[in-house]
Amino acid sequence: MTRRDFSTGLVIALGAATVAAPTFAEKEKTMKEIALEKLPYAEDALAPVISAQTIAFHYGKHHAGYVKTLNGLIAGTKYAELPLVEIVRLSAKEQAAAIFNNAAQIWNHTFYWESLAPVGKGGAPSAKLLKAVDAAFGSLDACRKALADAAVKRFGSGWAWLVANQGKLSVISTPNAETPVCDPATVPLAVVDVWEHAYYLDWQNRRADYAKALVDQLIDWNRVSARFE
Ligand code: MN
Repeated sequence: MTRRDFSTGLVIALGAATVAAPTFAEKEKTMKEIALEKLPYAEDALAPVISAQTIAFHYGKHHAGYVKTLNGLIAGTKYAELPLVEIVRLSAKEQAAAIFNNAAQIWNHTFYWESLAPVGKGGAPSAKLLKAVDAAFGSLDACRKALADAAVKRFGSGWAWLVANQGKLSVISTPNAETPVCDPATVPLAVVDVWEHAYYLDWQNRRADYAKALVDQLIDWNRVSARFE
């Protein structure tokens, strides 16, 4: 290539760049991406109730997979401009099933990790929360039992939740990716993941034992109390 050819080529290339639409790489810089939120503890911090191996797969493969899939689905769409919770709510309303399933699973999983704390580190319910627990269930033990029972009774994959509605507590469960955060009047307080990937490596078919151990030993009551403020 002669100097002149090179020079001409360069001019043409620059000229083209000024009129062409942004490249994908350029567009990508301005697009928001949903993040895989950091775990609030080390992968081995919940053992032996939830082993490091379970968290390595559950967080590192399942949760991370939903993040990767969702970012691929929403790239270049109106959803890419929204915070995660609004992606969940809008995709539910529009029945955009693939976006909803992945977005809701991301929201539910981040909420799940943040509902848990290492044994002995979860503190206790605040006075305000305890009063609401007593009003709804009679005692904290009864509240724990109701949450564990809902986890056992959920048929197939899903989630068991402690929620508040206008200050009143209740336990509910949702199938698959469904989430109470779709309803702005409901305040989720704590959740138990009852998809088999959450417990099968550690507890195999014993979902009841996993649920009981989790609600008795791993709930982060400090954080649950803060969610109820
Ligand atoms: Mn899960």
